[in-house]
Amino acid sequence: MRAGTGAARLAMVEDNSAQLFNRIGHFLAEHRLSPDPRHYAFAYRVCSDETGPLAQAVASLTDGGIRLSSRDIEALGGEIGTLAVAASPENAAKKADGLVAQTQMQVDGFTDMMHAIRAETQDFGRDLAASADAIRESRDTVGIDEVVRLTGVMLGRVRSAETKLEEATHEATELRAKLEEARDNARRDPLTDLPNRRAFEEAYAEQAATGARLCVAVCDVDHFKMVNDRFGHAVGDRVLKAIGEALIKACDGHLVARYGGEEFAVLFSGVGLQVARATLEEARGTVAAKRYRLRESDEPLGAVTFSAGLTEASCEEILGTAFARADRLLYAAKHAGRNQVQTAHS
Ligand code: GH3
Ligand code: MG
Ligand code: MG
Repeated sequence: MRAGTGAARLAMVEDNSAQLFNRIGHFLAEHRLSPDPRHYAFAYRVCSDETGPLAQAVASLTDGGIRLSSRDIEALGGEIGTLAVAASPENAAKKADGLVAQTQMQVDGFTDMMHAIRAETQDFGRDLAASADAIRESRDTVGIDEVVRLTGVMLGRVRSAETKLEEATHEATELRAKLEEARDNARRDPLTDLPNRRAFEEAYAEQAATGARLCVAVCDVDHFKMVNDRFGHAVGDRVLKAIGEALIKACDGHLVARYGGEEFAVLFSGVGLQVARATLEEARGTVAAKRYRLRESDEPLGAVTFSAGLTEASCEEILGTAFARADRLLYAAKHAGRNQVQTAHS
């Protein structure tokens, strides 16, 4: 009887596993995703909890039969998941950030301690000096010279300790400045000096929490590979810098970030889609009208343009969802001929 129940349970477990495996296979096929470990792990998380937050986010993204892109998966993994987050570079950076914060707290505590000790030794030194003066003046006391000598030695020690404390406090202040610089570097793209993807994500989360009206744009340089192929990577780098500068100028008051590669993201705060669109159109027109030339030979590079997807984020929407929508609009802009902005409400 017992053996029979055990066998039935085993059969049921096997049946559930086979069903889950089938669902994962179906999910991968449906979204044309290769069964590499990252996609598989993502599919497993969706299919093993079909009513969970990740499955719901996937459902809302793919409503209407749209396939998930790798970027959607990355965005969802970053926002909701635990598996993808554990190994992601962003997570490593967050960890490093935690360490920096901890060290900074230690430094702060150390500096406070130094101030307290210094105040104490100053008082002590003053008292000692006062009593040495008093003893020196009352000449009738026996062994006065020895007491004065000892007091002098002690004063010397106190002064030397004070100097050491001074140096340690100075070092602590320098260390704090370096930590702050490291913190800033982790959020900045070294080529363009623009905020990076991480800074963009943090800014979105911060602004969204205040309930501000937000629009998200993804801008991607058109046929940028050709610029690299024809003129070399170094020239490509200079073009990226120039586009970053043009975007900053045109989108003054909003956050322009280098999101990765030849992609820039803009976070428009406190304005609606119409204003954001007009601003981005101006930026697009400015970049397209520029005639870049090679510094060395004055040879023209030809027009450099970008395409963009722009969307307004709805209230309480996570960046992953708004960004995926902007990315799809960017894709549409590329398909419609490039050098244009496509927009949509959430
Ligand atoms: P599309 O209009 O479809 O966006 O075409 P594309 O050529 O811009 O797109 P693709 O994705 O094929 O190529 C992007 C290129 O951007 C390839 C890559 O080498 C280049 N790139 C990415 N990051 C950098 C960078 O930091 N510096 C330089 N010079 N090139 C970069
Ligand atoms: Mg690109
Ligand atoms: Mg491109």
